[in-house]
This record gives sequence, structure tokens and C-alpha cells, in this order.
Amino acid sequence: MTDAVETLRWAVANVPRLAFATGFGAEGCVLIDLIAREKLPIDIFTLDTGVLFPETYALWKALEAKYGVTIRGVAPVVAPASIDKLWLTDSDRCCDLRKVQPLRAALAGFGGWITAIRRDQTPERANARAVEQDAKFGLVKINPLVTWTHDDVWGHLYANDVPTNALHAKGYPSIGCAPCTSPVIPGEHLRAGRWRGAQKTECGLHTPEQKADKL
Ligand code: SF4
Repeated sequence: MTDAVETLRWAVANVPRLAFATGFGAEGCVLIDLIAREKLPIDIFTLDTGVLFPETYALWKALEAKYGVTIRGVAPVVAPASIDKLWLTDSDRCCDLRKVQPLRAALAGFGGWITAIRRDQTPERANARAVEQDAKFGLVKINPLVTWTHDDVWGHLYANDVPTNALHAKGYPSIGCAPCTSPVIPGEHLRAGRWRGAQKTECGLHTPEQKADKL
């Protein structure tokens, strides 16, 4: 925990205007717990794609109630009805309209953004650093949990009685939009249920358009 809190404190002291974009995964719940308990001036929002699980919307409310924080919902850049079921035909476009473009707009005016990524989640995240320059969004990117393991995360959640998504207990270790998330079986990679059957492993939020300069 200490390293994550120190990273967050460093960011607050050195980066003007910070935002945390959470998808309410286990790691995101850890960071909401740390931000709230440390009373850090960090704006928290979530990309409300319109097709999240009911359990995710319930967790959103539970976290706000427990910590007394407001977690802003950021909507897709077009009316959800106009892109209904787009995930079936063009998942990259769907993620762009529901996640990437809304994130870009939501981050306007901020100096840095905090993410919940860990190095061992995907090969694309294996080289992530605690503090990076994010060329994609033109911001400092802070990854406080980058060295944490899965067990570190769950140890913190249990020890601090942090609310988590009820789907975790039903075989969903990684949870995104409902149409693109399925449960995993024992032995599968923790993100195997995301875009199952497709080559896609990321929604584009953490995929650099060009190699980011590491601070
Ligand atoms: S995860 Fe699926 S439903 Fe959600 S934005 Fe991406 S393609 Fe669309």
C-alpha cells in the first residue's frame, strides 16, 4: 500500500489537476479507497458506456455511499441508441465511441490521469511505469498499482472491507461492458473473459498511438 499512497501523494504535489478514470475493477476499488481515505484532491469519473453490468452500477453507488465521494459518469460521444450492438460488428469503433473519445474529452483541462493498471495484467502493460508521459492524451499518466500483484490487490480489499463487484464471486475476475465480458474457468488468464474469441485485448485506453516517453 505504501508505494501506491506515496505515488498518489507525489502526483498530487507535482501534477496540476488530477483525474482518476475507474472502471470499477478490483484495482480501481483499491484506488478509490486510497484516494478517499487520504482525502486527495483527485477528480474521479467512470466511462458509463451504457452497457455495464447491473452489478457494476450497484458497485458505483456503494462506493459513493461508503466513501462520500462523487464518481462522475461520462457518456459515449454519440447517442447510445445510434450505436446499439456495434460491438458485434466493429468492437474497435464501439470502444472508440464509448470509451476512448469520451475519455479524451473528459481529460481535457487535466494535467494528469491516474489508472489502475498492473504490469502482469497483459503483455501490453508489462513495461508500464509508475509515472509516464502519455503521448496519446498529452498528460502525465500515473499508475500507482503498477508493481502490485493480484494477491496484493485482494489482500488490500479484504483487509479494508472495500466494496467490490458481486460478479467477481461468479467467475468474473476482470469486468468490462456486459456484451464483451464472460466468466473464466480455473486456469485461464484473468482477462480471458474480455472480448472472448477475438484478438482484441485492450479497449484502446492504454494502447499508445506512439511510444510514450518514460519519465
Ligand atoms: S467493451 Fe464492448 S460494448 Fe464496451 S465499448 Fe468496447 S466493444 Fe463496446
